[in-house]
Amino acid sequence: MPQADLVLLHAPSVYDFRKESILYGPVSDLVPSTPVFEMYPIGLTTIAEYLERHELRVRIVNLAVRMLNSDRFDPEKFIQGLRPAAFGIDLHWMPHAHGAIEVARLCKKLHPGIPVMLGGFSATYFHEELIRRPEVDFVVRGDSTEVPVLQLMQHLTHRPDAPALGEIPNLTWREPDGTVHVNELTYSPENLDHLLIDYSYVVRAVARYRDLAGSVPFKGWLGYPITAALSVRGCTHNCKTCGGSATAFSDLHNRRRPAYRAPETLAQDIRNIARFSRGPVFILGDIRQPGEEYADRFLRAIEGYEGPVIIELFDRADRGFIRRVARAMPNWTLEVSLESHSDEVRAAFGRPYRTAPIEDTMRYALEAGVRRLDVFFMIGLPKQDYASVMGTVDYCEHLMRDLDQGSSRRLIPFISPLAPFLDPGSPVFEHPERYGYRLSARTLEEHRRALVQPSWKYVLNYETEWMNRDQIVDSTYEAGLRLNRLKAAYGLADPAQAQRTEARILRARRLIAQVDDIMSMGDAGQRAKLLRAIKPQVDQANLSTVCEKSELTVPLRGFALNLPRAAGIFLRHILSPSPSQGEGRGEGRSRRANSPQDRTSSE
Ligand code: SF4
Repeated sequence: MPQADLVLLHAPSVYDFRKESILYGPVSDLVPSTPVFEMYPIGLTTIAEYLERHELRVRIVNLAVRMLNSDRFDPEKFIQGLRPAAFGIDLHWMPHAHGAIEVARLCKKLHPGIPVMLGGFSATYFHEELIRRPEVDFVVRGDSTEVPVLQLMQHLTHRPDAPALGEIPNLTWREPDGTVHVNELTYSPENLDHLLIDYSYVVRAVARYRDLAGSVPFKGWLGYPITAALSVRGCTHNCKTCGGSATAFSDLHNRRRPAYRAPETLAQDIRNIARFSRGPVFILGDIRQPGEEYADRFLRAIEGYEGPVIIELFDRADRGFIRRVARAMPNWTLEVSLESHSDEVRAAFGRPYRTAPIEDTMRYALEAGVRRLDVFFMIGLPKQDYASVMGTVDYCEHLMRDLDQGSSRRLIPFISPLAPFLDPGSPVFEHPERYGYRLSARTLEEHRRALVQPSWKYVLNYETEWMNRDQIVDSTYEAGLRLNRLKAAYGLADPAQAQRTEARILRARRLIAQVDDIMSMGDAGQRAKLLRAIKPQVDQANLSTVCEKSELTVPLRGFALNLPRAAGIFLRHILSPSPSQGEGRGEGRSRRANSPQDRTSSE
């Protein structure tokens, strides 16, 4: 099997999750991942593809999925068998603060001579803390790291004309004597047109490394291959707890304005993905952010696309826009985040719309034939107390009863806690008192330790003026119970599914009380023993809590993957395995050759 120049490893949230007894709670109920957060960031594929285009071999290994799939999979033995020129580990969001560091430690222990680099939003925020750790040699900062990583790899593989370490933008590094250098963060491309985002890299990697499980973005992806199309890195909004907000991008990544993908290229990305996948394509970023003209150009370019597409709106929309979307992409799902029924709470969080106009937007979407309308609410917001959370659940009933009056039940509300962490770099993380928050973890090390606490109540890195951690947990379970019953009453969940969800929530509630009892004991040894004893129940309760994963899925017709097409890519790769001859390069090459630039997922 060929050795890669760079192995990109995606760690589980908590490295030894198979041994630890941790009640994760509903932290990942509303995303495709399990609580191990095994879904790797889209940036891993853009980095891999970009480097391969420059004659370097890159292998992505989703260690988290491999560990989830088999108790027998031994990550240590697996890493021992790798011999790349460098290891790269993503630390994008803070739930990976434990796993990413432990995997870095493992790489360094097994291969002391191979450099280890970290990257991602959280790595950027904590780069100075990271570079002081002996297992980390480099931190590549910024929201777009394809070019700095390429330069670093050219340096490490001794390519002719490779830059010296001091010349590589966005790099934090350490000399052998321990001297730390923080190079300026000057690489912040103005658009995303140099990237190729069609996932053909993943199919090629499966062929090259014969490693299907290690290449897939998350567990279950082959059955439900949802993919992301990236319209933007950056955001024009400033939601108060978001690490992908405009101020966070400016402070952390030196980004003055969002970088957009050209609208015609975005449409082509979606069509390219559809060559091998019949799964939904989620367009990250509101297509109106760059302005009406961008949205119009995109909708003209995607006109007639029949596959399932999910779009998100960051603000209300008028009827004309909604109709244009429905005409261009008839198989569409809309996601809106209301956060709360209360205008006051929503405004305090930073959402720019009031209830009446966003309800109009939802009405227009239902009128225009949207396939699904997912409406998201959150717990743990500024100015939100326990009663306000229950008011939001009552409001969900109003939405199901009064807005979605057809028989098809397309409007589906969801509620979940802001957990486990507030994002570093977000306005609230930077100024907690200003927004009524109290933080219990500030450093990377504090977050790393918090992640191995025995229940999500102890993992949370915040409380608010309006709710302490007990109330955040209680209101989450109570809201989950009430909403589940409402969904059953309005035909959104069949009785058996609603019963399962109710049983899960009640079990999770009992377990969290049990963990509290155990934690109140003075004897640490006894605590550890009792936590181990309840691990089977905890693992069972971790599967999902307040809703089932199936509630989030868009129904697919036929096979989820276009197998003949995927096999074609696979076979072509086997017959011509050079990194420069892969699928999806023809059209992309000329596009990229004309422009430099880059990336990041926001929401
Ligand atoms: S990325 Fe989403 S949550 Fe974050 S600031 Fe923008 S709109 Fe708000």
